Amino acid sequence: MHTDPDCLFCKIVAGKIPSRMVYQDDELYAFHDIHPWAPVHFLLIPKQHIASMAQLTDAHAAMMGRMMVLVPKLALLEGCNPYPAGGFRMLSNTGAEGGQEVHHLHIHVMGGPRPWLRG
Ligand code: AMP
Ligand code: ZN
Repeated sequence: MHTDPDCLFCKIVAGKIPSRMVYQDDELYAFHDIHPWAPVHFLLIPKQHIASMAQLTDAHAAMMGRMMVLVPKLALLEGCNPYPAGGFRMLSNTGAEGGQEVHHLHIHVMGGPRPWLRG
């Protein structure tokens, strides 16, 4: 599996930097954001190093599909209220103009009662 020894989220996957795990399987890992914007705020990432959504190829389609399907399940497990009164927000910042700070592909999932700090 491709990893980058200098990447913060690769270090989290490897357990070299601590995180509060939400979920993991063979190819995906989810953990609480260290600076939450909302009552629920976690990040879902591939375990392999992919810098951003800009690097995705057709070979990643199945894994990305698995991420999409997992989001609503994990959102409910982490305390987001059910749709339609509840729900969640997901976003993936991509590149400098997209507001990306950590260059390992990640999906933010946020939810819970408003107001939120941001978002
Ligand atoms: P961005 O790249 O802008 O989409 O966001 C990166 C996110 O990673 C931010 O929301 C940070 O709060 C979060 N973050 C940075 N370092 C850690 C860490 N060690 N553990 C958990 N979340 C982190
Ligand atoms: Zn990485």
